[in-house]
Amino acid sequence: MNYKQEYIYTPKCYESCAGYCCAGFTNPNFKLIRSNFIALPLFDIEYQEYLKAGAINGMEAAKKSEKFKLKGGQTITLHWLHCDKKGLCNPHSNRPLVCKLYPILPKVSSSGEILGFFNGTIFDLFFDDKSHPCTLIKEKRSAIEDMLKSNLTDLLKDPNYIFIFKAAQIAVEHLQNYIKDIFGTYIIDEIPQDKVALFWGEVEMAMMLRRAWNTPKFIDDINEAYENIAKIWGEFLPIEP
Ligand code: SF4
Ligand code: SF4
Repeated sequence: MNYKQEYIYTPKCYESCAGYCCAGFTNPNFKLIRSNFIALPLFDIEYQEYLKAGAINGMEAAKKSEKFKLKGGQTITLHWLHCDKKGLCNPHSNRPLVCKLYPILPKVSSSGEILGFFNGTIFDLFFDDKSHPCTLIKEKRSAIEDMLKSNLTDLLKDPNYIFIFKAAQIAVEHLQNYIKDIFGTYIIDEIPQDKVALFWGEVEMAMMLRRAWNTPKFIDDINEAYENIAKIWGEFLPIEP
């Protein structure tokens, strides 16, 4: 992976939205999630590239790292960077993939073919395109999708990144379905005004307590995604003692 690579070119788009995506995803209904930093997830393969590239000044080390075991013993390691740079990360070219690809991520097949796109951060899953705070979604969605289709080609030849995108999609869908089971929809515009605070309260708890992901179905879906990718590309995650 070339860590300096850019995937979406939209100069000065931050002028149209007050830099929404780097500002901390403020939501007055959240009681626990604070907007003074953004937690950015990096799977181990990306984190090693991030460190090799020299990291971002002031964000040289992950604040937290977690390990998860798949049923076959393979280990997923996830590192969390905390960013309070509000768009001024330096060097900007070292920002994580989730920032470089914002506001969308690709839906991929096990062989790495792009099948579509979904909103790239868990804070954005509850907007439809017309109410999304990101101008690129509202005005340039098909242009950024085209950029990603052409610029992600190399990355999608690596099973690790195919798995990362697949795992992100599964996580997003489980969270959306968890909220839909409670409210009948996961789109905030469809929630009656007197239920908005309750809606965001459930979203916050689903994220903080991982309620949407602490289920056998989620574990099965992640394992199945890994197995399907490994069938094509061979085993790619380490088995750690
Ligand atoms: S990517 Fe979207 S939200 Fe982020 S600065 Fe550009 S227009 Fe604003
Ligand atoms: S690393 Fe840079 S692009 Fe990413 S959230 Fe922080 S300031 Fe924004």
